[in-house]
Amino acid sequence: MFRKFGQTYLFWSLCAALWSTLCFVIPDFVDNPVGNWISLFSVAAYIVSVGIFHLLVLYVIGFYRYACAVLLPLYAIAGAVCSYYRLIYHVSITPLLLDAALHTHAREAAGVVSVWLVLWLILNLGISILLIRARFRRVAQPVPFWHFCLGLLLVFAYMNAIPRLKSALIMRYPLNITYSIAEYIADLNRPLPVRTYPALVADNSPDSIFVIAVLGEATRADHLHLNGYDRETTPCLSRRNDVVSLPHVYSQYTHTIGSIPHIITRADSANVDVANSEHSFVSLFGQAGFNTIWLSNKNQTKPFWAFMDESDTVLYTDAARKQALYAKWLDEDLLPLVDTFIAQSPKQLYVLHTMGSHWMYDTHVSDDLFTFTPTTSNRDIRQNTKEQIINSYDNTVVYLDAFIQAIINRFEHYPAIILYISDHGESLGEGGRYLHAQEDAEEEKYPAAIIWYSDKYASLYPDKIKALIQNKDKRYRTDYYFYSILYAAGMEAEGDCPEMNIFR
Ligand SMILES: [Zn+2]
Repeated sequence: MFRKFGQTYLFWSLCAALWSTLCFVIPDFVDNPVGNWISLFSVAAYIVSVGIFHLLVLYVIGFYRYACAVLLPLYAIAGAVCSYYRLIYHVSITPLLLDAALHTHAREAAGVVSVWLVLWLILNLGISILLIRARFRRVAQPVPFWHFCLGLLLVFAYMNAIPRLKSALIMRYPLNITYSIAEYIADLNRPLPVRTYPALVADNSPDSIFVIAVLGEATRADHLHLNGYDRETTPCLSRRNDVVSLPHVYSQYTHTIGSIPHIITRADSANVDVANSEHSFVSLFGQAGFNTIWLSNKNQTKPFWAFMDESDTVLYTDAARKQALYAKWLDEDLLPLVDTFIAQSPKQLYVLHTMGSHWMYDTHVSDDLFTFTPTTSNRDIRQNTKEQIINSYDNTVVYLDAFIQAIINRFEHYPAIILYISDHGESLGEGGRYLHAQEDAEEEKYPAAIIWYSDKYASLYPDKIKALIQNKDKRYRTDYYFYSILYAAGMEAEGDCPEMNIFR
């Protein structure tokens, strides 16, 4: 009897796993790039690994018939909803998406429900009911309890065995639901760090001025044509005489989470902890009467929340995105958000947190700006040729050039200044290194930094522009940014000095 149970139940579980792999796992991978056999094999390996997890989970779910009759339809409904939105809207469940969904009006929600979703739900619910029927009629009873214990043990062992597999599983159904709910609840109770305010020594900010802080990502200075790079990567900005590039900025951090708090606070190389203990320049702009707006095209990242909370307004371009998605993820999505605020007040600070030159490069470049080809064809950067990697990377710089030009177009008739700075550089194969966050990689420590100012700004502060042009080839650490952006808007923070300020 027990052997009979074991065989038929395993067969039942395999059928259930085949269904959930086809309907819930594969949709998660359809937009993964598969340029060659190696990447095809890698995607297939991921699908099989996640499919095995579904097999183990379904083995446990189906064990007790009556529990199965309740749980399996729920599994089908949640799986169908997740896979539908993953396929059609390229979104996966995140805590921020849960938050957005919980605060969405019924009318907005109705806009994303379609007849295809209903049909997809009916199909999967139908399959789950067939499986329940088979479970009641075909699999013998009673069932040995140790099968259940073993199944449960295998689920936990499998998901914790390999860290890389665990992170792949957490991003996908069904674990993305449990993890997102747990994280969402934890976020609701998060304590904000207690930070002090740096002193504003002087505030002579004008009544009308727009300051746009663009926080870039992984764009290195030496790939800007503005800085002498031989490829034409900055066709728009190179033609302008109101753009100044700083080619010799040094970042001591090579990863976003270390770098951004250092850039936007009074932290410097001698006082790095200030990044954790003080407010950023955003609070000082707020004190000086600016309307402060933080617009993010990044994933939600906890270390930035305290700074974002300093702003009057915080908006994400898309609350649902995950780095594992391969759909387009473009910084230009920030622009419509900018447009909604421009007319609201004459004295504004924007912080635009961008995706910039982050891997995967091609997903952050619009199709019309694929200037250098061939581009990367494999999601594992090492499987691409050096030429493909550089081409794709340089296209992100061309895209940045167009993005900054698009911001200029919006503000050129106002007294306005843009201070762009990338958080760090990027390795493009030097010493076998790729991407960033490698502490000893010099090529990751020279981020791009660009300033643009309008004519009205230049007539408001001719001395600052004169100083900027004189200083532009000097060496600065990213420490300059905090003091300079305040000074650019007519303010002076405690600790300001000529060595830390590009406008003095
Ligand atoms: Zn970064």
